[in-house]
Amino acid sequence: MPIPLDVRKKPTSLKVHISTGAGVDITWADAHTSHYDFPYLRDSCPCAMCNDEREQKAKAGPAAKVSAVLPMYKPRVTAQAATPVGNYAIQIQFSDSHATGIFSFGHLREICPCEACAREFRNKSAEAAG
Ligand SMILES: [Zn+2]
Ligand SMILES: [Zn+2]
Repeated sequence: MPIPLDVRKKPTSLKVHISTGAGVDITWADAHTSHYDFPYLRDSCPCAMCNDEREQKAKAGPAAKVSAVLPMYKPRVTAQAATPVGNYAIQIQFSDSHATGIFSFGHLREICPCEACAREFRNKSAEAAG
């Protein structure tokens, strides 16, 4: 029997609500459920272009934020299509026509916006619970 994948990163159900624009719902093999808005996924897009963009912003540092103008109203990003990639990821085509982001299930679980996952995957310094 093959060694099972990390059950926390294995979806048992995945729904992409394209027509309603509600986002993505995933149920994981450990029975955890995650909900992602499309704008959140767009901001977390793992493609090289978006990675570069985020790095540039990080390099620019807080000074850039101070001089930045207030954000103009932007239409809410939704998705136009979602395509499975093998059995390990989904590719989402966003309404701003950005479609190069391939969201692996591991990445999706790590960016789950809930508090439990934030503690588990994104706060390595958190104290270990008994
Ligand atoms: Zn991207
Ligand atoms: Zn979660």
